[in-house]
Parts: sequence; C-alpha cells; structure tokens
Amino acid sequence: MFVAYCAVCDRRTLLGVDEIDWVENLTRGVLSVSGRCPRGHEVVILTGDAFTPHRDPRYFGPAPRIWTKPLNRMRSWLRIRFQLSRDLPGPFYRF
Ligand SMILES: [Zn+2]
Repeated sequence: MFVAYCAVCDRRTLLGVDEIDWVENLTRGVLSVSGRCPRGHEVVILTGDAFTPHRDPRYFGPAPRIWTKPLNRMRSWLRIRFQLSRDLPGPFYRF
C-alpha cells in the first residue's frame, strides 16, 4: 500500500494493490508507481531505495582521542594563561 496525494481531490488517499496500474523502474533505486485514486484521477508516486535515508559513508565517526588530545591540552593551556574578556577598552566607550 502507498499513501498517494491526489492534486485534483486535494487529499491523500491509500493506494492499494488493486488501484496500481503499473510500476516502472526509472533508474537505480527509483521506482515510479502509477495508479488511480478512489475517484479515478491519475496518481504517480516516486519511491524506492533512493528515497530511504542511509548513513553517510563519508562519516567515520568522531575523531580519535589521539588526534583531539593535543588540541584539548593546548586549549586548556590557553584558557589558563589568557582570561577571556568581552568588555570594551576605555577609549572605545562613548559615555
Ligand atoms: Zn482524486
């Protein structure tokens, strides 16, 4: 079953197996399912494996600790020696 949106009826309807006219394999992972809504209007649904979310193969997880440890140590070293101040120096005050 598919949930199909009919633009003529302006509503979503369930498309059962009996209402499906044909299924076409457009490209790898993309299917085009064509059918008719209960009132007889033509409805086309794009579906397939290309529309399902997958994990990004380029993401290998968080950086290993052996990479981040030197940066964290430097950050804490800087934090100790330089106090962060957001106040404007005296000459920049207008009043
Ligand atoms: Zn319709």
